[in-house]
Amino acid sequence: MNGLEALRQQGKRITPQRRLVYAALLEHPGHATADELCNSIGRKLPGFQRTTVYRTLDLLVDLGLARKIQLGHANNYEAVMAGSESHQHLVCDRCGGTFDVSCPEVPEWVSSAARPLGFDLERVELLGHGICATCASAN
Ligand SMILES: [Zn+2]
Ligand SMILES: [Zn+2]
Repeated sequence: MNGLEALRQQGKRITPQRRLVYAALLEHPGHATADELCNSIGRKLPGFQRTTVYRTLDLLVDLGLARKIQLGHANNYEAVMAGSESHQHLVCDRCGGTFDVSCPEVPEWVSSAARPLGFDLERVELLGHGICATCASAN
């Protein structure tokens, strides 16, 4: 299902702003900061309010159409595609690059650790910190 259809099914209006922010998210392969999204939207539509971008991104995250990767200094966003495999993230502490890693065992481990607590686990967000290959070879 297309993300915008999901919006409509949840009774949310597809405003031109929401359509534009979601499209910008899809145009960025991998992860994008809110600033990068603001910039690419601004190139198409000068004068677009940055606060609208931030607000719309939060809405898309709430609806499960986007995922926010909290990095401390700048959050990254990525579109969540229906049926796509869940993945975890590695972040380079030097350049801020964010990388996807598939580790299907991780949610299982956390889920079995959560079970004795009676905790109903919905998702696991793991963030690995380090130095990426490009930064490491730039030394
Ligand atoms: Zn790096
Ligand atoms: Zn990712």
